[in-house]
Amino acid sequence: MNFCFTSIRSFPKLWTSHQYLGLGPGQSSLAHLERYCGLKNQKKWFSCKTVSPQNTKSNNLLTAKARYLRKGDEGNNKQVSSESPHFFAAGSAKKRSQNSHPSKEQALLPSRKSFQVPTKPLTSEQWSKLQADFKGKAKFENWIITQMVRAHSSVDVAKSLLAWVAAENSGIVGYDLLVKYLCLCVFHKQTSEVIDVYEIMKARYKSLESGANTLLIRGLIHSDRWREAVLLLENIKKVMVPSKGNYNDCIQGALLHQDANLAWSLYQELLDYELIPVLDTFKAFFDFGRGMNDDQYAKKLLDILLYLRNNRLYPGESLAHSIKTWFESIPGEQWQGKFTTLQKSGQCLGCGRTIETSQLSSEEYDYLQGKIMKDVIDGGDQYKKTTPQELKRFKNFVKTCPPFDIVIDGLNVAKMFPKTRESQSLLDVVSQLSELNLRLLVLGRKHMLMPSSRWRKDEMERVKKLASCFFADNISEDDPFLLYATLHSGNHCKFVTNDLMRDHKACLPDAKTQSLFFKWQQGHQLAITAKLPGSKVVFQPILSYDTVVQTTGDSWHIPYDDNQVERCSFEVPTKWLCLHRKT
Ligand SMILES: [Zn+2]
Repeated sequence: MNFCFTSIRSFPKLWTSHQYLGLGPGQSSLAHLERYCGLKNQKKWFSCKTVSPQNTKSNNLLTAKARYLRKGDEGNNKQVSSESPHFFAAGSAKKRSQNSHPSKEQALLPSRKSFQVPTKPLTSEQWSKLQADFKGKAKFENWIITQMVRAHSSVDVAKSLLAWVAAENSGIVGYDLLVKYLCLCVFHKQTSEVIDVYEIMKARYKSLESGANTLLIRGLIHSDRWREAVLLLENIKKVMVPSKGNYNDCIQGALLHQDANLAWSLYQELLDYELIPVLDTFKAFFDFGRGMNDDQYAKKLLDILLYLRNNRLYPGESLAHSIKTWFESIPGEQWQGKFTTLQKSGQCLGCGRTIETSQLSSEEYDYLQGKIMKDVIDGGDQYKKTTPQELKRFKNFVKTCPPFDIVIDGLNVAKMFPKTRESQSLLDVVSQLSELNLRLLVLGRKHMLMPSSRWRKDEMERVKKLASCFFADNISEDDPFLLYATLHSGNHCKFVTNDLMRDHKACLPDAKTQSLFFKWQQGHQLAITAKLPGSKVVFQPILSYDTVVQTTGDSWHIPYDDNQVERCSFEVPTKWLCLHRKT
C-alpha cells in the first residue's frame, strides 16, 4: 500500500505572482517587453490638452529640432541629429550615437518580408527612402517603432526616427510614438531621455493613461526627480488602483534615495488596497535594513515575514538570501542561517527542531468548518449556479450516509488524462481507492450518466458499485458540494481534485480563516500527479508538517523556491532557510 494518504502535499502557489518583470518559461521577449512597457492598455484616460501657451515649449523644441535636422541634411553642419542639445539628444545615448554616424552603407532592406529594423541612426533622407519602400503602410512610423520596440533597438535609432517624424510634421510627434520611444528609453535605462519625454508629455497632455504613467514612474525613480514618480502614482490613483508593479517601483525609488518612511507608507497603502506585493518589494526592504540598528525597522521586517506566513507566500531564492543576510547582520543578536531540508518526520536537518504539524487542532477544525459552512456554502452569492433546492437535496443525501473517508470530484478526475476516456479515468481512480477499504463518495454531474463515447454505461455502473455517488444538475458548481461533504465527514476525510479552489479566498471572511482553509487544503487534498502505465494513479503525498513561514521566537524556518526548480501549482517548496540564535 504505497499510496500515501497520511501525507499529502497539494498546495497551490496561491498568490505568488510571477517575479516582477521576470521572464516566465515560454514567454517571448516581446510579451515581456510589452508587459514591461505597459503597452497593452494604452488610450484609456488619455486626454489631449487643447493648444495652450504651455505647449509652445515642447513644440518649439520639436520645431527647432526639425529645423536643425534640415540644416544637418543640407550638410551645413557636420554634427548628426542626436547631438543637438534638446530632448532627443540628452543622456548617455548621445555618446553612443557619436560613434554611429549614419552612413550610406546602412542596410535599408527593400522588402517587408526580409525587413530588419535599422541598427544605426538614419538621416531624414534615409528614413524617407525607407518609408517610400514601404508605401502602403498607412502609419509607417507607428509600424516601424513597434518593430523597434520588439527588437529592443537602441535609443539612438529611435531618436533619429522621432527627429525625422518631427521634421515632417511641423515638430509634432504622435502620442503612440512618444510612448513607444519612452518604452525603449526605460528599457535601456536612459534616464535623461526619460526626463525629456516626461517634459514633453507634461507640456502637451493634460493627463496620461496608466501605460505611460507606469513607464514614467519606472524611468524616473533612478533620477533626482524620483519624487515626481510618487506624484504620478497619485495621478494613477485618481482613476484606478495602481498595480503592485507601480508600488514596487516607487518603493524601490524611495529606498534608493534613503527615504524609508515614504517606502513604508507606500507599502502600507499597497496592503490597504489588498494587493499582494511582488517579492522584489520585500527584498528591497530586507536589503535596505542590512546592518541597521533600528528596532522599529526590524519589527516591520518581522511583520513582512508574518505576512508571508498568513498569506502562505514563499520567497524565491534571492529573497531568501536577503532575509538570511539581514538576520545575520542584526547587531548583537548572533543569528545564524542555513539553507537546508527537512526529514520526512518534519525535523529540520539544520537545527533539529520540528516543523509545525499540518494537522488542524480540533478547535481550528471546528472554527474552519463553521466558517466554510456559513460563508462559502450558505453564504452563496459566488454559487448562484447551485440552486437552494439542489443544495438541500445534497445535504439530505449526505446526512443519510455515514462519514466518508474520501470525497472525489468526479468530473475533475475524469478529465485529468486527456488520452483516456473519462469514465475509464474515473473508474481507475475509484477502483484504486476502493482497494484500501475506504468509504468513497463520487460527486458528478447528471450528464455523466448519459451513455456516450466518453461516458460508458458499464464503467459508470462499476463506479456506482464501488462508491456512493451524487449527481448534480449539469449547471451546478462542484466545489461547495465537495467542501460540504468533506468537512461534514470530519477531520480524517480527504478529497481528490486537482482544482486549486483559489476562488474561495474571496468568500472567506478574514486572514485567519483563509490561512486555516489553505492549511486544511494542504493536509486534505489528494492531487493526482501522474498515471503509470496500466491504470495506477499516483497521488501527491501529504506531508505531516506544514510548509509555511514559521517562528519560535529564537528561530525562524522559511520555505523558499529554488531558482532551478519549476514548482507545480499543487506542490510546495522542499528547501528551507533555517535561522536560529547562536547559544
Ligand atoms: Zn532549523
